[in-house]
Amino acid sequence: VLRLEAVRKTFGGTVVLRDVDLEVAPHTVTALIGASGSGKSTLLRCANLLEEIDDGAILLDGEDITDPRVDPDTVRRRIGVVFQAYNLFPHMTVLDNITLAPRRVHGVPRAEAEERAGELLERLGLGGKAGEYPDRLSGGQQQRVAIVRALAGRPRLLLLDEITAALDPELVGEVLGVVRDLKDDGMTMVLATHEMGFARDVADQVCFLDGGVVLERGTPEEVFGRPREERTRRFLRRIV
Ligand code: ATP
Ligand code: MG
Repeated sequence: VLRLEAVRKTFGGTVVLRDVDLEVAPHTVTALIGASGSGKSTLLRCANLLEEIDDGAILLDGEDITDPRVDPDTVRRRIGVVFQAYNLFPHMTVLDNITLAPRRVHGVPRAEAEERAGELLERLGLGGKAGEYPDRLSGGQQQRVAIVRALAGRPRLLLLDEITAALDPELVGEVLGVVRDLKDDGMTMVLATHEMGFARDVADQVCFLDGGVVLERGTPEEVFGRPREERTRRFLRRIV
């Protein structure tokens, strides 16, 4: 689904991603782990064309989306994103938050957009919340609405950046449960996370980023169970 080839990203002379290769197969979950500042968010932002890369290529379903002739909007339509802060519009109901982009950007008729939103809300355990305003929902519910919003356009791929980082511990589980359900439904996902237990549990592939380099990658058993690199071992020791 997604493929990064020797991606290089700099900010004002500082290299933030260095020759990053990544292959995300259909219906798999890739977890990006690594210390703060290692480049996880930047990688996700590059994949969604929120950042321009300096070198290399990013392919979505075989198409080089970093080609300047590619329209970023058509790319973003195929990729759903959820970030740490849910970024819901506070003055809009849950339903309007979800259907805004499909209706305004993608030209989906209101009835169709609302039907799809209703189905997704139901599926994520938010049936009955469509008319609510975000500030009347818990953090976990708000984050689930953000996931519904990302799914509303039927994306090929979902990018999730620390989606539980802003949540109270007791709300983390419900959001991670949603990710697990999406995996069971066959959704392809790339997620940056500090939840090592979750990464181990849900990921098919784990990538350890260190200073903008994918230092180690493998199955959860490989990366968590028998890491090859000393730096990976040190990171895991520090975090668990
Ligand atoms: P965290 O775990 O804290 O979220 P991260 O792995 O997501 O960290 P990034 O946010 O990708 O790390 O940042 C990687 C590096 O790029 C950091 O050194 C950061 O300071 C730098 N960086 C990120 N965005 C910008 C920007 N817009 N301008 C300049 N430097 C940036
Ligand atoms: Mg980050």
